[in-house]
Amino acid sequence: MADINPFESLQEQIDDAAAYLDADADVIERLKHPERVLETTLSVEMDDGLVEQFPAYRVQFNGDRGPYKGGIRYHPDVTQDEVTALSGWMVYKCAVVDIPYGGAKGGIAFDPRTYSASELERITRAFATELRPLIGADRDIPAPDVNTGQREMNWIKDTYETLERTTEPGVVTGKAPSSGGSAGRVEATGRSTMLAARETFEYLGRGIDDATVAVQGYGNAGSVAASLLDDAGATVVAVSDSSGGVYAADGLDTAAVKDHKRETGSVVGYPGADEELTNEALLTADVDLLVPAALENAVDADIARDVRADVIVEAANGPLTPDADDVLTDRDVYVVPDILANAGGVTVSYFEWVQNRQRFAWTEARVNDELERVVTEAFDRLVDTYESVDVPNLRTAAYVVAIERVADAADDRGNWP
Ligand code: GLU
Repeated sequence: MADINPFESLQEQIDDAAAYLDADADVIERLKHPERVLETTLSVEMDDGLVEQFPAYRVQFNGDRGPYKGGIRYHPDVTQDEVTALSGWMVYKCAVVDIPYGGAKGGIAFDPRTYSASELERITRAFATELRPLIGADRDIPAPDVNTGQREMNWIKDTYETLERTTEPGVVTGKAPSSGGSAGRVEATGRSTMLAARETFEYLGRGIDDATVAVQGYGNAGSVAASLLDDAGATVVAVSDSSGGVYAADGLDTAAVKDHKRETGSVVGYPGADEELTNEALLTADVDLLVPAALENAVDADIARDVRADVIVEAANGPLTPDADDVLTDRDVYVVPDILANAGGVTVSYFEWVQNRQRFAWTEARVNDELERVVTEAFDRLVDTYESVDVPNLRTAAYVVAIERVADAADDRGNWP
C-alpha cells in the first residue's frame, strides 16, 4: 500500500476541480480544511482488569449543507489525517448525490479483532460519551465504516439516549432494524457500487452482463457489490481480502465465498477456486471491471500502469493515489469515483434518518427504488458535466458538481462570525 497522506490527496482533488470552477478562492480554501477536530484518548478497562488507552478522533469537516454526517472506523492505521480526509470525502459525497448533509468522520486506532465483545462495548460507549456534546440528529450523525456495524451503532444510540434521557434514534444511522435501522442499509454501499457499474457500462454502450469482474476487499461493501454484480449477470472471477485472493475463470459463487469467509475468516482457501492470487495480482487481473473495496491507496502509479480493467468503480474511500489517477486518465481507463460509487451507504443512512424523524418505516422495495433514483440521477449529472465542462476524468467532474453545491451553500451563509 502506497504511503500517501490521504488528506493531501483530498486537497489535490479539490484543487484539480477548482480550476474548472468560477468560485471565490477564499471559499475554495475554506473547503479544503476541517471546521473542527476532536482528538481524545479513551481509557478503558479490559476484561483482565487492566486499563488500556485508545487514540480516537472525530472530524467535522464542513456543515454548510446540513448536519455533519459520516462513519466511525476501527482500524490500527487510523490517524488524524486519515479521518480528516475521510470527513472531507463525506462532504463531497453528500453533495454529489445532493442529500442535505455536511461531512464528518470518526475513528479509533486499534485492531478490534483482538478484543472481546464486552471490551468492544466499553470502548464504543467510552467514545460515545466523548462524542455526546458534539453529536445529535440535527448536529452530527455517526454511522458504520470499516470494522463497525449495527452492533456498535446500537451501543452509540443507547449511550446517547440514556445520558440525554430522551429517545433520538436519528442520532446515528446504520442501526439494527429492531433499534430503528432501515431496511436495505447493510446492502446500500454495495448496491450503489453495482448501480454505478451498470450505468457506466450502459454509457459505454456495453452490458454489465458481459463483464468480468475483480473485487479487492470482501467486507460489507465488497461482498455485497460482488453478489449484486453477480445477480446483474456479470461474472465475478476474482475476489480478495487482506490475507489474499481467489480466482475462478468461469466465475466464483459469491455467496459461497462469503460463507467461507464467515466460517474461516478469509476468502483464501475457498474450495471452488481454480487458483489463489495476491492482492496485487488481483488488481492487475485481466478483467473488464475492477472494484477496489478495501482501504485507501490500494492502487498506486506502478499498479495503475499494469491495471488491465478498462473500468474501475471505487467501492472503498480513496483507493487510488492521485498519481494512479493520472496514469489511469492517460490510459483512458474510466474511473467512477468513490464519492458517487459508494454513496449508497450514506444515501440510505439519510433515508434511515428521515424514517426515524417521521417514526415511520419504509419497505425495502421503497428504499431500493429511491436509492436507484438518487444514484442514476447523480450519475447522469456527472456524465453531463464530464461532457460539457472539459474535465479530464469522472472524478474531476464529480468534484466540480459537488464543490459548486457546497460553495453555493457556503456563499449563501456568508463568512460569519
Ligand atoms: N461510512 C460510509 C461512507 O464512507 C457511510 C457513512 C454514513 O452512512 O454516514 O460513506
